[in-house]
Amino acid sequence: MSILIYAESAEGKFKKVAFELASYAKKVAESLGSTVTAITFNITDASELSKYGVDKVLKVNDSKLANFSAKAYADAIQQAAKKEDAKLVLLSSTTDSAYLSSLVAVSLDAGFASNVVGLPVSTSPFQVKRNAFSNKAFNITEISTDVKVLGLAKNSFGIVASSSNLTEEDYAPSINDADFAIKIESTEKVSGKIAIADADIVVSGGRGLKGPENWGLIEDLAAALGAATACSKPVSDLGWRPHGEHVGQTGKPVASNLYIAVGISGAIQHIAGINSSKVKVVINSDPEAPFFKVADYGVVGDAFEIVPQLIEKIKAFKAQ
Ligand SMILES: Cc1cc2nc3c(=O)[nH]c(=O)nc-3n(C[C@H](O)[C@H](O)[C@H](O)COP(=O)(O)OP(=O)(O)OC[C@H]3O[C@@H](n4cnc5c(N)ncnc54)[C@H](O)[C@@H]3O)c2cc1C
Repeated sequence: MSILIYAESAEGKFKKVAFELASYAKKVAESLGSTVTAITFNITDASELSKYGVDKVLKVNDSKLANFSAKAYADAIQQAAKKEDAKLVLLSSTTDSAYLSSLVAVSLDAGFASNVVGLPVSTSPFQVKRNAFSNKAFNITEISTDVKVLGLAKNSFGIVASSSNLTEEDYAPSINDADFAIKIESTEKVSGKIAIADADIVVSGGRGLKGPENWGLIEDLAAALGAATACSKPVSDLGWRPHGEHVGQTGKPVASNLYIAVGISGAIQHIAGINSSKVKVVINSDPEAPFFKVADYGVVGDAFEIVPQLIEKIKAFKAQ
C-alpha cells in the first residue's frame, strides 16, 4: 500500500506546493507504515522529490498533457492510484488541484476532504482537521471509505526535508480523446510579476491609497521584498488595479508567509480570503480599523509617510 501524491509543476518545474505535499505525505506514511509515490506530468528530472521523502515517482511525459486538463489529469491520477493500490491520494489546494480532487475522488469512489490542515487527527477511524467558514473555524471530518482523497491547505504544513532513495518510473496511463472535451487553448501570463498563489510575501493596497496614481508605493515595497502585489475588492472594482489582484472572499485566496495590508480597513470579506497567511502586517491611519484585531504587527499612521521609510529601511538592510 502506498500514498499517492500529485506533485504539481509548471513549465517543467515543481511548484512549492509539491514539496509541501511530499513532506506531509512522508509524515502520514510514517504513521501508517506505508510509502509515498508521486505522479508528475511532463517533468524530466524528478530527483528533487527525494529531498522530501518520496520513495517512487511515476513520470507521465505526454505532449497531449502539456497544458492542464482536469479530466485527463484526473484520469491519469486515478489509474496511478489503482496501479499502486493507494488508499490515500493527496493533492494540494491550488485552483488546479481543487478542480482535480473531486474528479479523482468520484472516479475512485473515495471520500474527499478539502482544506485539510495538519496531520490526521486519527488514522483509525480516519479523521482530519479542516478549515471551515472561510478559515474562521475548524471541523473534524471522518472518512470511512476504503480509498480517501485529501486536499491539503496551502502553507498549513510547511516544507520538511527528509531524504529517500527515489526510484523513477516512466508511466503511460491510457488517456482518451474524450478527456479533452474541455481544454486550455492558450494562456496569457502577466509578465515580470510574481503570482499571488506562489508568493511567499504579498503586499496589498486598499482604498486608503486614494488612487491608482499612488500605486508606485505598493509596487516599490513589493519590489524591495520580492513580493506579489494585491488589492482589496473596491480597488479593482474602481479599475485602479486589474481584477486578478483582488483578494478576499470573492477574490483570490492568500496563504503567504507574510501579508502586508496598506490602507485596507479589514472588512470581514477581505479577512476571509487572507487569514491563512502566517504573519499579517497592517499599515492604517485609523487606530480603530478592524484589520488591527487580526494583525500580528500593526503600524498606525499615514501610508504615504510610512511606506517610503519602510522601503528605505528594507533596501538598507538588504545592502548590508
Ligand atoms: C458580498 C461581498 C463580497 C466582498 N468580497 C470582498 C473581497 O473578496 N475582498 C475585499 O477586499 N472586499 C470585499 N468586499 C468589500 C468589503 O466589504 C469592503 O468594502 C472592502 O474590503 C473595503 O476595501 P478597503 O479596505 O480597500 O476600503 P475602505 O473600507 O474604504 O478602507 C480604506 C482604509 O484605508 C485607511 N486609510 C485611509 N487613508 C489612509 C492613509 N493615508 N494611510 C493609511 N491608511 C489609510 C482607512 O482608515 C481605511 O481603514 C465584499 C463585500 C461584499 C458585500
